[in-house]
Amino acid sequence: MASELASILNTLGLGDDPRLALDNVEPAAGFVVCENPTTAEPIARVRLDDADAYERAAGEAYAAFLRWRTVPAPVRGQVVRAIGDELRTHRDALGRLVSLEVGKSLPEGIGEVQETVDIADFAVGLSRQLYGLTMPSERPMHAMREQWLPLGPIGVITAFNFPNAVWGWNAMLAAVCGDSVLWKPSLLAPLTAIATNTICQRVASRMGHEGVFGLIIGEDQVVGERIIADKRFPLISATGSCRMGRHVGAIVAQRLGRCLLELGGNNALIVERDADLDLALKSVVFGAIGTAGQRCTTTRRLYLHESIAGEFCERLVRAYASVKVGDPLAKGVLCGPLVSKAAVEGFEKAIVAAKAQGGEILAGGSRAEPTKLTPPGLSGHFVQPTIVRAPASGELPIAREETFAPILYVFTFKTLEEAIAKQNDVDQGLSSAIFTESARSAERFLDPSGAGSDCGLAYVNLGTSGAEIGGAFGGEKDTGGGRESGSDSWKAYMRRQTVAVNFSGELRLAQGIELDL
Ligand code: NAD
Repeated sequence: MASELASILNTLGLGDDPRLALDNVEPAAGFVVCENPTTAEPIARVRLDDADAYERAAGEAYAAFLRWRTVPAPVRGQVVRAIGDELRTHRDALGRLVSLEVGKSLPEGIGEVQETVDIADFAVGLSRQLYGLTMPSERPMHAMREQWLPLGPIGVITAFNFPNAVWGWNAMLAAVCGDSVLWKPSLLAPLTAIATNTICQRVASRMGHEGVFGLIIGEDQVVGERIIADKRFPLISATGSCRMGRHVGAIVAQRLGRCLLELGGNNALIVERDADLDLALKSVVFGAIGTAGQRCTTTRRLYLHESIAGEFCERLVRAYASVKVGDPLAKGVLCGPLVSKAAVEGFEKAIVAAKAQGGEILAGGSRAEPTKLTPPGLSGHFVQPTIVRAPASGELPIAREETFAPILYVFTFKTLEEAIAKQNDVDQGLSSAIFTESARSAERFLDPSGAGSDCGLAYVNLGTSGAEIGGAFGGEKDTGGGRESGSDSWKAYMRRQTVAVNFSGELRLAQGIELDL
Protein backbone atom coordinates (compact mmCIF):
# COMPACT_ATOMS: atom_id res chain seq x y z
CA MET A 1 0.00 0.00 0.00
CA ALA A 2 2.98 2.32 0.57
CA SER A 3 3.83 1.83 -3.09
CA GLU A 4 0.24 2.68 -4.01
CA LEU A 5 0.73 5.97 -2.15
CA ALA A 6 4.10 6.59 -3.83
CA SER A 7 2.55 6.02 -7.24
CA ILE A 8 -0.33 8.44 -6.53
CA LEU A 9 2.05 11.09 -5.21
CA ASN A 10 4.29 10.71 -8.27
CA THR A 11 1.29 11.07 -10.59
CA LEU A 12 0.44 14.29 -8.78
CA GLY A 13 4.03 15.53 -9.00
CA LEU A 14 4.49 15.38 -5.23
CA GLY A 15 7.17 12.72 -5.01
CA ASP A 16 9.72 15.01 -3.34
CA ASP A 17 7.57 17.08 -0.96
CA PRO A 18 9.88 17.85 1.99
CA ARG A 19 7.06 17.47 4.54
CA LEU A 20 6.47 13.85 3.59
CA ALA A 21 8.40 10.66 4.25
CA LEU A 22 7.30 7.27 2.99
CA ASP A 23 10.41 5.29 3.90
CA ASN A 24 10.57 6.19 7.60
CA VAL A 25 7.17 5.88 9.26
CA GLU A 26 8.33 5.45 12.87
CA PRO A 27 6.42 7.64 15.34
CA ALA A 28 8.51 10.60 16.53
CA ALA A 29 7.97 13.95 18.20
CA GLY A 30 7.14 16.63 15.64
CA PHE A 31 5.59 14.19 13.16
CA VAL A 32 2.24 12.56 12.56
CA VAL A 33 2.13 9.02 11.21
CA CYS A 34 -0.55 8.43 8.57
CA GLU A 35 -2.23 5.08 8.66
CA ASN A 36 -4.11 3.32 5.91
CA PRO A 37 -7.42 2.46 7.63
CA THR A 38 -7.91 -0.51 5.29
CA THR A 39 -4.81 -2.30 6.60
CA ALA A 40 -4.15 -0.39 9.85
CA GLU A 41 -0.56 -0.03 8.60
CA PRO A 42 1.49 3.17 8.64
CA ILE A 43 1.99 4.50 5.13
CA ALA A 44 3.67 7.88 5.60
CA ARG A 45 5.04 10.33 8.11
CA VAL A 46 4.23 14.02 7.90
CA ARG A 47 6.26 16.77 9.55
CA LEU A 48 4.16 18.93 11.88
CA ASP A 49 4.27 22.70 11.84
CA ASP A 50 5.21 24.42 15.10
CA ALA A 51 4.40 27.86 16.50
CA ASP A 52 7.10 29.58 14.42
CA ALA A 53 5.86 27.94 11.24
CA TYR A 54 2.36 29.10 12.16
CA GLU A 55 3.56 32.70 12.52
CA ARG A 56 5.20 32.55 9.11
CA ALA A 57 2.14 31.01 7.46
CA ALA A 58 -0.28 33.47 9.06
CA GLY A 59 1.94 36.40 8.08
CA GLU A 60 2.15 35.13 4.49
CA ALA A 61 -1.63 34.67 4.33
CA TYR A 62 -2.11 38.24 5.50
CA ALA A 63 0.43 39.65 3.03
CA ALA A 64 -1.11 37.62 0.20
CA PHE A 65 -4.55 38.98 1.12
CA LEU A 66 -3.34 42.58 0.78
CA ARG A 67 -2.14 41.83 -2.77
CA TRP A 68 -4.96 39.52 -3.84
CA ARG A 69 -7.78 41.86 -2.88
CA THR A 70 -6.51 44.40 -5.43
CA VAL A 71 -6.87 41.91 -8.29
CA PRO A 72 -10.25 42.47 -10.00
CA ALA A 73 -12.78 39.80 -9.09
CA PRO A 74 -13.23 38.46 -12.65
CA VAL A 75 -9.44 38.10 -12.91
CA ARG A 76 -9.46 36.21 -9.61
CA GLY A 77 -12.11 34.05 -11.25
CA GLN A 78 -9.69 33.17 -14.03
CA VAL A 79 -7.20 31.87 -11.45
CA VAL A 80 -9.95 29.75 -9.92
CA ARG A 81 -10.87 28.53 -13.40
CA ALA A 82 -7.28 27.33 -13.93
CA ILE A 83 -7.32 25.64 -10.52
CA GLY A 84 -10.57 23.88 -11.40
CA ASP A 85 -9.01 22.67 -14.67
CA GLU A 86 -5.94 21.36 -12.87
CA LEU A 87 -8.09 19.53 -10.32
CA ARG A 88 -10.13 18.08 -13.18
CA THR A 89 -6.93 16.71 -14.70
CA HIS A 90 -5.88 15.17 -11.38
CA ARG A 91 -9.36 14.19 -10.23
CA ASP A 92 -8.97 10.43 -10.33
CA ALA A 93 -5.52 10.35 -8.68
CA LEU A 94 -6.65 12.75 -5.95
CA GLY A 95 -9.85 10.75 -5.47
CA ARG A 96 -7.75 7.61 -5.06
CA LEU A 97 -5.68 9.38 -2.43
CA VAL A 98 -8.85 10.37 -0.54
CA SER A 99 -10.00 6.74 -0.56
CA LEU A 100 -6.59 5.45 0.50
CA GLU A 101 -6.24 7.93 3.33
CA VAL A 102 -9.73 8.00 4.86
CA GLY A 103 -11.24 4.76 3.54
CA LYS A 104 -14.24 5.95 1.54
CA SER A 105 -15.12 3.97 -1.60
CA LEU A 106 -13.32 5.02 -4.77
CA PRO A 107 -16.42 6.44 -6.53
CA GLU A 108 -17.04 8.54 -3.40
CA GLY A 109 -13.40 9.64 -3.27
CA ILE A 110 -13.48 10.71 -6.92
CA GLY A 111 -16.93 12.25 -6.42
CA GLU A 112 -15.55 14.36 -3.61
CA VAL A 113 -12.87 15.87 -5.86
CA GLN A 114 -15.53 16.39 -8.54
CA GLU A 115 -17.38 18.49 -5.95
CA THR A 116 -14.36 20.78 -5.66
CA VAL A 117 -14.20 21.03 -9.46
CA ASP A 118 -17.91 21.91 -9.49
CA ILE A 119 -17.55 24.59 -6.84
CA ALA A 120 -14.62 26.04 -8.78
CA ASP A 121 -16.90 26.31 -11.84
CA PHE A 122 -19.57 27.93 -9.69
CA ALA A 123 -17.05 30.38 -8.24
CA VAL A 124 -15.81 31.40 -11.71
CA GLY A 125 -19.32 32.53 -12.65
CA LEU A 126 -19.73 34.16 -9.26
CA SER A 127 -16.61 36.24 -9.80
CA ARG A 128 -18.69 38.42 -12.14
CA GLN A 129 -21.75 38.44 -9.90
CA LEU A 130 -20.70 39.72 -6.49
CA TYR A 131 -23.66 42.03 -6.68
CA GLY A 132 -24.57 44.73 -4.20
CA LEU A 133 -27.95 46.47 -4.06
CA THR A 134 -28.82 50.05 -4.83
CA MET A 135 -31.60 51.64 -2.84
CA PRO A 136 -33.45 54.94 -3.09
CA SER A 137 -32.31 57.58 -0.65
CA GLU A 138 -34.90 59.55 1.33
CA ARG A 139 -32.80 62.68 0.71
CA PRO A 140 -32.89 64.52 -2.63
CA MET A 141 -29.77 64.28 -4.78
CA HIS A 142 -28.30 61.47 -2.69
CA ALA A 143 -27.35 57.99 -3.87
CA MET A 144 -27.26 54.86 -1.74
CA ARG A 145 -25.83 51.48 -2.48
CA GLU A 146 -24.17 48.49 -0.87
CA GLN A 147 -20.87 47.07 -1.97
CA TRP A 148 -19.21 43.81 -1.01
CA LEU A 149 -15.52 43.94 -0.16
CA PRO A 150 -12.89 41.28 0.49
CA LEU A 151 -12.90 40.28 4.16
CA GLY A 152 -9.38 39.13 4.99
CA PRO A 153 -7.41 35.94 5.23
CA ILE A 154 -9.83 33.12 6.08
CA GLY A 155 -8.94 30.31 8.47
CA VAL A 156 -10.40 27.04 7.20
CA ILE A 157 -10.46 24.10 9.64
CA THR A 158 -11.60 20.83 8.08
CA ALA A 159 -12.82 17.44 9.32
CA PHE A 160 -11.22 14.18 8.24
CA ASN A 161 -14.22 12.81 6.36
CA PHE A 162 -14.23 15.28 3.45
CA PRO A 163 -10.52 16.03 3.25
CA ASN A 164 -10.77 17.72 -0.15
CA ALA A 165 -14.30 19.05 -0.80
CA VAL A 166 -14.87 20.95 2.44
CA TRP A 167 -11.75 22.96 1.75
CA GLY A 168 -12.90 23.42 -1.86
CA TRP A 169 -16.31 24.78 -0.82
CA ASN A 170 -14.57 27.39 1.30
CA ALA A 171 -11.43 28.14 -0.65
CA MET A 172 -12.91 28.53 -4.13
CA LEU A 173 -15.53 31.01 -2.90
CA ALA A 174 -13.11 32.85 -0.63
CA ALA A 175 -10.64 33.20 -3.51
CA VAL A 176 -13.07 34.88 -5.90
CA CYS A 177 -14.22 37.09 -3.02
CA GLY A 178 -10.63 38.40 -2.71
CA ASP A 179 -9.60 36.51 0.42
CA SER A 180 -6.53 34.39 0.97
CA VAL A 181 -6.98 31.09 2.80
CA LEU A 182 -4.97 29.37 5.51
CA TRP A 183 -6.06 25.75 5.76
CA LYS A 184 -5.73 23.67 8.91
CA PRO A 185 -6.73 20.11 7.97
CA SER A 186 -7.43 17.17 10.26
CA LEU A 187 -4.37 15.20 11.33
CA LEU A 188 -6.27 12.11 10.13
CA ALA A 189 -6.04 13.38 6.53
CA PRO A 190 -2.91 15.49 5.97
CA LEU A 191 -1.88 13.73 2.74
CA THR A 192 -4.94 14.82 0.77
CA ALA A 193 -4.49 18.32 2.16
CA ILE A 194 -0.86 18.52 1.06
CA ALA A 195 -1.71 17.19 -2.41
CA THR A 196 -4.75 19.43 -2.92
CA ASN A 197 -3.11 22.57 -1.61
CA THR A 198 0.09 22.03 -3.55
CA ILE A 199 -1.81 21.60 -6.82
CA CYS A 200 -3.78 24.81 -6.24
CA GLN A 201 -0.86 26.84 -4.96
CA ARG A 202 1.20 25.72 -7.96
CA VAL A 203 -1.43 27.09 -10.34
CA ALA A 204 -1.86 30.35 -8.39
CA SER A 205 1.93 30.91 -8.22
CA ARG A 206 2.32 30.23 -11.93
CA MET A 207 -0.23 32.98 -12.54
CA GLY A 208 1.64 35.38 -10.26
CA HIS A 209 -0.35 34.98 -7.06
CA GLU A 210 1.94 33.39 -4.52
CA GLY A 211 0.61 32.66 -1.05
CA VAL A 212 -3.15 32.87 -1.67
CA PHE A 213 -3.58 29.25 -0.56
CA GLY A 214 -1.63 28.45 2.61
CA LEU A 215 -1.53 25.22 4.59
CA ILE A 216 -0.62 24.62 8.19
CA ILE A 217 -0.47 21.07 9.53
CA GLY A 218 -0.14 20.72 13.26
CA GLU A 219 -1.58 19.80 16.63
CA ASP A 220 -4.78 21.54 17.73
CA GLN A 221 -2.98 22.89 20.81
CA VAL A 222 -0.17 24.34 18.69
CA VAL A 223 -1.65 25.61 15.43
CA GLY A 224 -5.42 25.14 15.96
CA GLU A 225 -5.62 27.29 19.06
CA ARG A 226 -3.41 29.92 17.42
CA ILE A 227 -5.48 30.37 14.29
CA ILE A 228 -8.81 30.61 16.12
CA ALA A 229 -7.42 33.27 18.49
CA ASP A 230 -5.65 35.23 15.73
CA LYS A 231 -7.31 38.58 15.01
CA ARG A 232 -5.75 38.65 11.53
CA PHE A 233 -8.38 36.05 10.55
CA PRO A 234 -11.77 37.81 10.59
CA LEU A 235 -13.54 34.58 9.63
CA ILE A 236 -12.89 31.07 10.86
CA SER A 237 -14.78 28.45 8.89
CA ALA A 238 -14.69 25.28 10.96
CA THR A 239 -16.09 21.88 10.03
CA GLY A 240 -16.15 19.07 12.55
CA SER A 241 -17.82 17.82 15.69
CA CYS A 242 -20.22 19.86 17.84
CA ARG A 243 -17.65 19.58 20.63
CA MET A 244 -15.05 21.32 18.47
CA GLY A 245 -17.57 23.91 17.28
CA ARG A 246 -18.54 24.90 20.82
CA HIS A 247 -14.92 25.58 21.67
CA VAL A 248 -13.95 27.30 18.41
CA GLY A 249 -17.14 29.37 18.42
CA ALA A 250 -16.46 30.63 21.94
CA ILE A 251 -12.83 31.59 21.27
CA VAL A 252 -13.66 33.40 18.02
CA ALA A 253 -16.61 35.17 19.68
CA GLN A 254 -14.34 36.44 22.45
CA ARG A 255 -12.32 38.38 19.89
CA LEU A 256 -15.56 39.38 18.09
CA GLY A 257 -14.54 37.49 14.98
CA ARG A 258 -16.95 35.63 12.72
CA CYS A 259 -17.43 31.90 12.59
CA LEU A 260 -18.92 29.70 9.94
CA LEU A 261 -19.66 26.44 11.74
CA GLU A 262 -20.49 23.18 9.95
CA LEU A 263 -20.89 20.62 12.72
CA GLY A 264 -22.36 17.23 13.50
CA GLY A 265 -25.61 15.85 12.14
CA ASN A 266 -28.11 13.24 13.31
CA ASN A 267 -30.19 12.87 10.21
CA ALA A 268 -33.55 11.17 9.92
CA LEU A 269 -35.41 9.71 6.97
CA ILE A 270 -39.19 9.27 7.12
CA VAL A 271 -40.92 6.62 5.01
CA GLU A 272 -44.66 7.32 4.70
CA ARG A 273 -47.25 4.61 4.09
CA ASP A 274 -47.61 5.70 0.42
CA ALA A 275 -43.87 5.85 -0.34
CA ASP A 276 -42.17 4.21 -3.31
CA LEU A 277 -40.45 1.58 -1.18
CA ASP A 278 -37.89 0.57 -3.80
CA LEU A 279 -36.68 4.15 -4.01
CA ALA A 280 -36.68 4.55 -0.25
CA LEU A 281 -34.78 1.29 0.28
CA LYS A 282 -31.91 2.21 -2.02
CA SER A 283 -31.69 5.68 -0.50
CA VAL A 284 -31.55 4.31 3.04
CA VAL A 285 -28.84 1.79 2.16
CA PHE A 286 -26.60 4.39 0.54
CA GLY A 287 -27.38 7.05 3.13
CA ALA A 288 -26.67 4.82 6.12
CA ILE A 289 -23.70 2.81 4.78
CA GLY A 290 -21.93 5.13 2.31
CA THR A 291 -18.57 6.40 3.63
CA ALA A 292 -19.07 3.74 6.35
CA GLY A 293 -21.55 6.04 8.08
CA GLN A 294 -18.92 8.77 8.38
CA ARG A 295 -20.71 11.58 6.59
CA CYS A 296 -22.22 14.52 8.41
CA THR A 297 -25.33 13.78 6.34
CA THR A 298 -25.39 10.00 6.99
CA THR A 299 -28.87 8.58 7.60
CA ARG A 300 -28.79 7.66 11.28
CA ARG A 301 -32.47 7.42 12.17
CA LEU A 302 -35.23 5.82 10.12
CA TYR A 303 -38.91 6.48 10.85
CA LEU A 304 -41.21 3.93 9.21
CA HIS A 305 -44.98 4.17 9.04
CA GLU A 306 -46.29 1.27 11.11
CA SER A 307 -48.18 -0.21 8.14
CA ILE A 308 -45.01 -0.78 6.08
CA ALA A 309 -42.44 -1.16 8.88
CA GLY A 310 -42.35 -5.00 8.94
CA GLU A 311 -41.95 -5.43 5.17
CA PHE A 312 -39.45 -2.57 4.90
CA CYS A 313 -37.25 -3.92 7.70
CA GLU A 314 -37.16 -7.38 6.12
CA ARG A 315 -36.12 -5.93 2.77
CA LEU A 316 -33.55 -3.70 4.44
CA VAL A 317 -31.96 -6.62 6.28
CA ARG A 318 -31.73 -8.55 2.98
CA ALA A 319 -30.18 -5.54 1.26
CA TYR A 320 -27.63 -5.15 4.07
CA ALA A 321 -26.64 -8.81 3.64
CA SER A 322 -25.63 -8.09 0.04
CA VAL A 323 -23.46 -5.06 0.83
CA LYS A 324 -19.75 -5.60 0.27
CA VAL A 325 -17.48 -4.45 3.09
CA GLY A 326 -13.75 -4.20 2.43
CA ASP A 327 -11.06 -2.41 0.51
CA PRO A 328 -12.55 0.91 -0.61
CA LEU A 329 -10.41 0.76 -3.76
CA ALA A 330 -11.90 -2.61 -4.75
CA LYS A 331 -14.73 -2.66 -7.27
CA GLY A 332 -18.22 -2.99 -5.84
CA VAL A 333 -17.28 -2.22 -2.22
CA LEU A 334 -19.77 0.19 -0.68
CA CYS A 335 -18.53 0.10 2.90
CA GLY A 336 -14.85 0.73 3.59
CA PRO A 337 -13.20 0.86 7.01
CA LEU A 338 -13.77 3.35 9.79
CA VAL A 339 -11.02 5.91 9.94
CA SER A 340 -9.29 4.70 13.13
CA LYS A 341 -9.20 2.23 15.97
CA ALA A 342 -10.86 4.84 18.19
CA ALA A 343 -13.76 5.04 15.73
CA VAL A 344 -14.26 1.26 15.99
CA GLU A 345 -14.32 1.57 19.77
CA GLY A 346 -16.92 4.35 19.46
CA PHE A 347 -19.03 2.03 17.29
CA GLU A 348 -18.77 -0.78 19.86
CA LYS A 349 -19.70 1.52 22.72
CA ALA A 350 -22.80 2.68 20.88
CA ILE A 351 -23.86 -0.92 20.20
CA VAL A 352 -23.45 -1.84 23.88
CA ALA A 353 -25.56 1.19 24.85
CA ALA A 354 -28.21 0.42 22.23
CA LYS A 355 -28.59 -3.14 23.53
CA ALA A 356 -28.72 -1.99 27.15
CA GLN A 357 -31.47 0.44 26.18
CA GLY A 358 -33.61 -2.32 24.67
CA GLY A 359 -32.55 -1.98 21.03
CA GLU A 360 -32.76 -5.12 18.91
CA ILE A 361 -29.92 -5.79 16.48
CA LEU A 362 -31.46 -6.67 13.10
CA ALA A 363 -28.19 -6.69 11.16
CA GLY A 364 -24.49 -6.41 11.98
CA GLY A 365 -23.65 -5.28 15.49
CA SER A 366 -19.95 -6.09 15.69
CA ARG A 367 -16.57 -5.76 14.02
CA ALA A 368 -16.46 -7.27 10.53
CA GLU A 369 -14.74 -10.65 10.36
CA PRO A 370 -11.62 -10.55 8.16
CA THR A 371 -12.79 -13.67 6.26
CA LYS A 372 -15.97 -11.89 5.17
CA LEU A 373 -14.20 -8.84 3.74
CA THR A 374 -13.54 -8.04 0.07
CA PRO A 375 -10.83 -9.22 -0.43
CA PRO A 376 -10.68 -11.50 2.63
CA GLY A 377 -7.95 -11.03 5.22
CA LEU A 378 -7.74 -7.25 5.52
CA SER A 379 -6.64 -6.11 8.96
CA GLY A 380 -8.10 -2.60 9.03
CA HIS A 381 -10.81 -0.88 11.05
CA PHE A 382 -13.86 -2.67 9.68
CA VAL A 383 -17.27 -2.94 11.29
CA GLN A 384 -20.50 -4.48 10.07
CA PRO A 385 -23.17 -2.13 8.76
CA THR A 386 -25.70 -2.32 11.56
CA ILE A 387 -29.45 -1.91 11.99
CA VAL A 388 -30.90 -1.46 15.48
CA ARG A 389 -34.67 -1.55 16.01
CA ALA A 390 -35.83 0.68 18.84
CA PRO A 391 -37.92 -0.90 21.62
CA ALA A 392 -41.73 -0.58 21.42
CA SER A 393 -41.58 2.42 23.78
CA GLY A 394 -39.63 4.30 21.07
CA GLU A 395 -37.11 5.32 23.76
CA LEU A 396 -33.52 4.80 22.61
CA PRO A 397 -31.32 7.58 24.06
CA ILE A 398 -28.18 6.53 22.15
CA ALA A 399 -29.97 7.49 18.91
CA ARG A 400 -29.79 11.12 20.01
CA GLU A 401 -26.00 11.03 19.63
CA GLU A 402 -23.99 11.17 16.43
CA THR A 403 -21.83 8.01 16.39
CA PHE A 404 -19.60 8.30 13.34
CA ALA A 405 -20.19 4.73 12.10
CA PRO A 406 -22.73 2.79 9.99
CA ILE A 407 -25.43 2.34 12.64
CA LEU A 408 -29.04 2.89 11.63
CA TYR A 409 -31.70 3.20 14.35
CA VAL A 410 -35.21 2.24 13.25
CA PHE A 411 -38.44 3.59 14.76
CA THR A 412 -42.10 3.35 13.76
CA PHE A 413 -44.78 6.04 13.70
CA LYS A 414 -48.54 6.32 13.31
CA THR A 415 -49.00 9.90 12.03
CA LEU A 416 -46.79 12.21 10.01
CA GLU A 417 -47.01 14.86 12.74
CA GLU A 418 -45.55 12.36 15.18
CA ALA A 419 -42.75 11.42 12.75
CA ILE A 420 -41.79 15.06 12.12
CA ALA A 421 -41.82 15.82 15.84
CA LYS A 422 -39.54 12.84 16.54
CA GLN A 423 -37.25 13.70 13.67
CA ASN A 424 -36.85 17.22 15.05
CA ASP A 425 -36.41 16.08 18.64
CA VAL A 426 -32.59 15.92 18.62
CA ASP A 427 -29.94 18.58 19.20
CA GLN A 428 -28.58 18.51 15.65
CA GLY A 429 -30.37 19.88 12.57
CA LEU A 430 -28.45 19.12 9.39
CA SER A 431 -30.24 16.88 6.87
CA SER A 432 -33.70 15.32 6.66
CA ALA A 433 -35.75 13.42 4.12
CA ILE A 434 -39.24 12.11 3.51
CA PHE A 435 -40.36 9.46 1.06
CA THR A 436 -43.96 9.89 0.00
CA GLU A 437 -46.07 10.00 -3.16
CA SER A 438 -48.47 12.46 -1.49
CA ALA A 439 -48.03 16.16 -2.27
CA ARG A 440 -49.81 16.96 0.98
CA SER A 441 -47.36 14.96 3.10
CA ALA A 442 -44.38 16.40 1.22
CA GLU A 443 -45.58 19.97 1.70
CA ARG A 444 -46.41 19.30 5.34
CA PHE A 445 -42.77 18.22 5.77
CA LEU A 446 -41.61 21.44 4.08
CA ASP A 447 -44.23 23.69 5.78
CA PRO A 448 -43.06 27.29 5.19
CA SER A 449 -44.35 28.27 8.66
CA GLY A 450 -41.38 26.30 10.00
CA ALA A 451 -43.58 23.60 11.54
CA GLY A 452 -42.08 20.91 9.27
CA SER A 453 -38.49 19.71 9.22
CA ASP A 454 -36.24 21.93 11.35
CA CYS A 455 -33.08 21.01 9.41
CA GLY A 456 -30.93 23.03 7.03
CA LEU A 457 -31.53 20.43 4.31
CA ALA A 458 -34.98 18.94 3.63
CA TYR A 459 -35.36 16.46 0.80
CA VAL A 460 -38.39 14.77 -0.75
CA ASN A 461 -37.87 11.34 -2.31
CA LEU A 462 -34.10 11.44 -2.01
CA GLY A 463 -31.87 10.35 0.84
CA THR A 464 -30.27 12.51 3.50
CA SER A 465 -26.69 12.13 2.36
CA GLY A 466 -24.97 14.02 -0.40
CA ALA A 467 -25.70 17.49 -1.64
CA GLU A 468 -25.31 19.44 -4.85
CA ILE A 469 -23.02 22.42 -4.69
CA GLY A 470 -25.61 24.83 -6.11
CA GLY A 471 -27.59 25.08 -2.87
CA ALA A 472 -26.44 26.58 0.40
CA PHE A 473 -25.18 23.71 2.57
CA GLY A 474 -25.42 23.65 6.34
CA GLY A 475 -27.59 22.95 9.33
CA GLU A 476 -29.40 24.45 12.28
CA LYS A 477 -29.27 24.05 16.08
CA ASP A 478 -26.10 22.27 17.25
CA THR A 479 -25.02 21.80 13.63
CA GLY A 480 -23.87 25.38 13.91
CA GLY A 481 -25.99 27.48 11.53
CA GLY A 482 -23.27 28.02 8.90
CA ARG A 483 -23.92 27.94 5.16
CA GLU A 484 -21.31 27.01 2.59
CA SER A 485 -21.11 26.25 -1.09
CA GLY A 486 -23.87 27.56 -3.40
CA SER A 487 -26.65 30.15 -3.40
CA ASP A 488 -25.55 33.33 -1.57
CA SER A 489 -23.11 31.60 0.82
CA TRP A 490 -20.37 33.76 -0.71
CA LYS A 491 -21.57 36.67 1.44
CA ALA A 492 -19.95 35.04 4.48
CA TYR A 493 -16.54 35.63 2.89
CA MET A 494 -17.00 39.35 2.26
CA ARG A 495 -17.80 42.46 4.24
CA ARG A 496 -20.75 44.64 3.34
CA GLN A 497 -20.36 48.36 3.08
CA THR A 498 -23.31 50.72 2.82
CA VAL A 499 -22.37 53.71 0.74
CA ALA A 500 -24.18 57.06 0.58
CA VAL A 501 -23.17 59.90 -1.74
CA ASN A 502 -24.49 63.45 -1.46
CA PHE A 503 -24.32 65.24 -4.79
CA SER A 504 -26.75 68.05 -3.80
CA GLY A 505 -24.16 70.53 -2.55
CA GLU A 506 -26.22 70.99 0.64
CA LEU A 507 -26.14 69.23 3.97
CA ARG A 508 -29.37 67.27 4.31
CA LEU A 509 -29.75 65.23 7.48
CA ALA A 510 -31.73 62.02 7.51
CA GLN A 511 -35.15 61.86 9.23
CA GLY A 512 -35.71 65.53 8.28
CA ILE A 513 -33.56 66.90 11.11
CA GLU A 514 -32.80 70.61 10.62
CA LEU A 515 -29.50 72.16 11.63
CA ASP A 516 -29.65 75.95 12.18
CA LEU A 517 -26.14 77.32 12.02
P1 NAD B 1 -13.25 16.91 14.91
O1 NAD B 1 -14.16 17.86 15.59
O2 NAD B 1 -12.53 15.91 15.72
O3 NAD B 1 -12.12 17.73 14.10
C1 NAD B 1 -12.48 18.64 13.09
C2 NAD B 1 -11.36 19.63 12.88
O4 NAD B 1 -11.31 20.50 14.01
C3 NAD B 1 -9.97 18.99 12.78
O5 NAD B 1 -9.20 19.68 11.81
C4 NAD B 1 -9.41 19.23 14.15
O6 NAD B 1 -8.01 19.22 14.17
C5 NAD B 1 -9.98 20.60 14.44
N1 NAD B 1 -9.95 21.00 15.85
C6 NAD B 1 -10.32 20.28 16.92
N2 NAD B 1 -10.09 20.99 18.06
C7 NAD B 1 -9.59 22.19 17.69
C8 NAD B 1 -9.15 23.35 18.39
N3 NAD B 1 -9.17 23.40 19.71
N4 NAD B 1 -8.71 24.40 17.67
C9 NAD B 1 -8.69 24.36 16.31
N5 NAD B 1 -9.06 23.28 15.60
C10 NAD B 1 -9.51 22.20 16.28
O7 NAD B 1 -14.13 16.19 13.76
P2 NAD B 1 -13.73 14.97 12.82
O8 NAD B 1 -13.74 13.71 13.61
O9 NAD B 1 -12.54 15.30 12.01
O10 NAD B 1 -14.98 14.97 11.82
C11 NAD B 1 -16.21 14.40 12.11
C12 NAD B 1 -17.22 15.43 12.53
O11 NAD B 1 -17.32 16.47 11.55
C13 NAD B 1 -18.62 14.86 12.64
O12 NAD B 1 -19.26 15.37 13.75
C14 NAD B 1 -19.29 15.34 11.35
O13 NAD B 1 -20.70 15.38 11.41
C15 NAD B 1 -18.69 16.68 11.21
N6 NAD B 1 -18.78 17.18 9.85
C16 NAD B 1 -19.69 18.15 9.58
C17 NAD B 1 -19.86 18.61 8.29
C18 NAD B 1 -20.88 19.66 7.97
O14 NAD B 1 -20.80 20.23 6.89
N7 NAD B 1 -21.82 19.95 8.85
C19 NAD B 1 -19.06 18.09 7.27
C20 NAD B 1 -18.12 17.10 7.57
C21 NAD B 1 -17.99 16.65 8.88
